[in-house]
Amino acid sequence: MTEREVKKGVTKLSPIDVYMLLPRTNCEECGEPNCMAFAAKLVNREVTLERCPPILKKEHEKAYKKLQETLAPVIRKITIGTGDHSIKIGGKLVMYRHEFTYHNPVALAFDVTDEMPLHARFSGEEALIDRVKRVENFLYNYIGRDLTLDMTAIRSTSNDPTIFKSAVENVAKVTKFPLILCTLDPNVMEAGLVVVQDRRPLLYAATKDNWKSMAELALMYNCPLSVLAPNDLDLLRSLVKTLIEYGVEDLVLDPGTFADEGLSDTVNNFTMIRRNACKGGDDLCGFPLIGTPITAWLGGKDSKETLAWKEAYIAGILMSRYADVLIMHSLDGWVQLPTVIWRFNIYTDPRKPVAVDSGLFTFGKPDEMSPLMLTTNYALTYFTVESDLKKFGGDYYLVVADTEGISVESAVAGRYLTAELIAETVKKSGVAEKIKHKHLIIPGRAARLSGAIEDELKNVGMPGWRIVVGPMDSSGIAKFLDETWPPKEEAKE
Ligand code: SF4
Repeated sequence: MTEREVKKGVTKLSPIDVYMLLPRTNCEECGEPNCMAFAAKLVNREVTLERCPPILKKEHEKAYKKLQETLAPVIRKITIGTGDHSIKIGGKLVMYRHEFTYHNPVALAFDVTDEMPLHARFSGEEALIDRVKRVENFLYNYIGRDLTLDMTAIRSTSNDPTIFKSAVENVAKVTKFPLILCTLDPNVMEAGLVVVQDRRPLLYAATKDNWKSMAELALMYNCPLSVLAPNDLDLLRSLVKTLIEYGVEDLVLDPGTFADEGLSDTVNNFTMIRRNACKGGDDLCGFPLIGTPITAWLGGKDSKETLAWKEAYIAGILMSRYADVLIMHSLDGWVQLPTVIWRFNIYTDPRKPVAVDSGLFTFGKPDEMSPLMLTTNYALTYFTVESDLKKFGGDYYLVVADTEGISVESAVAGRYLTAELIAETVKKSGVAEKIKHKHLIIPGRAARLSGAIEDELKNVGMPGWRIVVGPMDSSGIAKFLDETWPPKEEAKE
């Protein structure tokens, strides 16, 4: 297999190919039982090559280099920002999510302009500082995960170096977020760049007219550089080739984002670039892609709501069709929420359902007569139940069974949630020592297991337990408990 074939797709990379390049001493210094186990983990990107100390020795220098090339992602990984305040984009190994987990979620940047007032001068005016802080402080907890925004893009609308420099200074003072500096004028760019040269911003953008000056800035200040060629892939490839030859390696490609009639060209261009890189072995396309849904705001006469709606759906489309970083404008919750949630879903591992820990959880201050309920560890199920229980108030015990992140109905059907598992989980939770009753409320969708659970509880040394079939949906728990709790019989044997 040639290197190029290997790079064309992770599915073609076998552990044997990697194993053959490892020292093959089975010394276990990497924490794995042998070199083959380490090779398998390398192919699955579960470990890094540097976890194998022997490969870093002089005598393995050639093999190390070869392995680095073999394992390099087909889309170059680029860092914007520095240290703890940096973000990585690109680093994709495959074109399609079903081939392998996507790495490095799309970075979401929101814009400010250098002509915005620093502070609001009248009610309703949007000020630069407020906007930067709103972007940085955005947080939405979705099924237990904190979803946030990532970057600030500072656009020069004044095209004045002094004004841009001042805006960059002011933004840099109030946010640690990685930055994108946006201007096509190299003089304006440099004025802003000198202020934040130690923060490695992304420079946006080099074009056919300014590429040389922008390349000089990127090299002088060691920054990644966007390359812009709207709707012209030949020009984009030619610019990339020229910039690489000039010495700029960290490039981010922008084939242009067009709303309305231009949207299909936009999607085609993004798709062709990624396809050329992942399936065609075109190294000039092997860079992260930047999309600019903010261009929806050039839409003239449309209402503000319509423009924001267009921006939201363009962002969704481009996240699905291979963008690695987006520049956006609207801070409306109904634009940001679908954007961050869609990103979250695209970048979860399709092979592993999102799961929470199993075990015993308490809500309020449960005592010996508080209801005991059961659910599974599928994150969406757990957080829905949790949210309902918190909303109702009251005191409860909740046993969460490990169904490998599968929801109740599917887990019952697929035998991930069985009577044996439930009995073992309840026994292991120790809840029997905390309560006086012997009633376990199971989800309505697991009703068919009720008799078998009682039998299995006996088998694990918990006789006399009664299984109560609860509502089909956790939103019905409060009403259900009002009608059924406390149970009439609570024999503790
Ligand atoms: S540390 Fe390297 S040489 Fe040793 S077992 Fe692991 S992979 Fe093999």
